[in-house]
Amino acid sequence: MTDTLRPDGFGADALIAQADAHGARNYAPLPVVLSRGQGAFVWDVEGKRYTDCLSGYSALNQGHCHPRIVEALVTQAHTLTLTSRAFHHDLLGAFLARLAAVTGFEKVLPMNSGAEAVETGLKAMRRWGYEVKGVPDGTAEIIVAENNFHGRTITAVSLSTDPSSYGHYGAHTPGFVKVPFGDIEAMARAMGPRTVGVLIEPIQGEAGVILPPEGYLAKVRVLCRERGVVMCLDEVQTGLGRTGKMFGWQHAGPEARPDAVLVGKALSGGMLPASALCADGWLMDVFTPGTHGSTYGGNPLACAVGLAALDVLEDEQLPERAAHLGERALARLRAGLEGHPRVKEIRGRGLMIAVQLTEPTAHARAVALAHEGVLAKDTHGHTLRVLPPLVIEEPDLDAAVDAVIRVIRAA
Ligand SMILES: *Cc1c(COP(=O)(O)O)cnc(C)c1O
Repeated sequence: MTDTLRPDGFGADALIAQADAHGARNYAPLPVVLSRGQGAFVWDVEGKRYTDCLSGYSALNQGHCHPRIVEALVTQAHTLTLTSRAFHHDLLGAFLARLAAVTGFEKVLPMNSGAEAVETGLKAMRRWGYEVKGVPDGTAEIIVAENNFHGRTITAVSLSTDPSSYGHYGAHTPGFVKVPFGDIEAMARAMGPRTVGVLIEPIQGEAGVILPPEGYLAKVRVLCRERGVVMCLDEVQTGLGRTGKMFGWQHAGPEARPDAVLVGKALSGGMLPASALCADGWLMDVFTPGTHGSTYGGNPLACAVGLAALDVLEDEQLPERAAHLGERALARLRAGLEGHPRVKEIRGRGLMIAVQLTEPTAHARAVALAHEGVLAKDTHGHTLRVLPPLVIEEPDLDAAVDAVIRVIRAA
């Protein structure tokens, strides 16, 4: 990357060096320094344009700097930003009601990061287990799936089966049982009298867009109901339109409706951290004053942004758009890559797509793709993920997909 100087004297190389010098080394970003975004595009400090095919891991479903969400953010920033939950504020009810309507649950508990929504879901299930199901205090078990991703807190990494996530962060939180994702018999065997909940992703995102076998979620639903176990789905990445429906579980039909969903990421359209646990009263009412909270959770700024972000998803019919564009992108990828010796599998649902390579060269391909003006992220060495903003225009999607095909076919 050439070191073109900006008026402040910092070019791309200097900006990267500055971040390296003063930042923890917990990420290995592509050597691209972005300074602007609009819709499906971002620009680097040298003015080069890229199509964003990561979308902040699905936080930017509505695209970068969506004018309606920016307007809501700026207006509310001038008005009232934080009250803490020690007082009521005039946007909380509207936001909770709106998210309840969108998710189809009675109640919403707002938090900030996705990991905090996960923590909140786990707390709800444990409390329900002790106070309603009657499991002896301190002995509850929650079933999770292997290769999951639920965030980076100590408890979230305690659920992980990836050593780079959990390694040397022990002692880990006890009380979790891990079963293979998609294996309903294993889940049934793992359920015992102390099992209070199940927490899984409808499609495993960070694992590389892993779809469960047909009918899996519906079977999890039945099993949880039969055994008196709470079914909680982590829709932080799959939710809010990404997979071609508002929520990932909806592909399994209405009878697969879980007891609780976790949302985050696109809930604020990339503006600020906003997440929530959504559930009906029988579960949510386990929380009483003082038993859970967050200083910023449900703040007026996040509520204003969240309302606008949900408006955009519905008014612009982004789930339907993701379904249509996702089919188009998958078909184009398959036409261009299926049967190629370097390609093991092309999979996805909606605009949550992955190309798994036969060799661990996904990172090098992502770098090559950046040169072609497309930003995507490799995962687990062999998989390239393609998750553009749902607002992307058809010709721009086609061009990005063609670039993916080109860099994978290139020797
Ligand atoms: C990103 C993600 C999280 C964690 O969200 P943060 O906001 O990064 O804490 C949790 N679950 C899933 C499925 C995710 O994709």
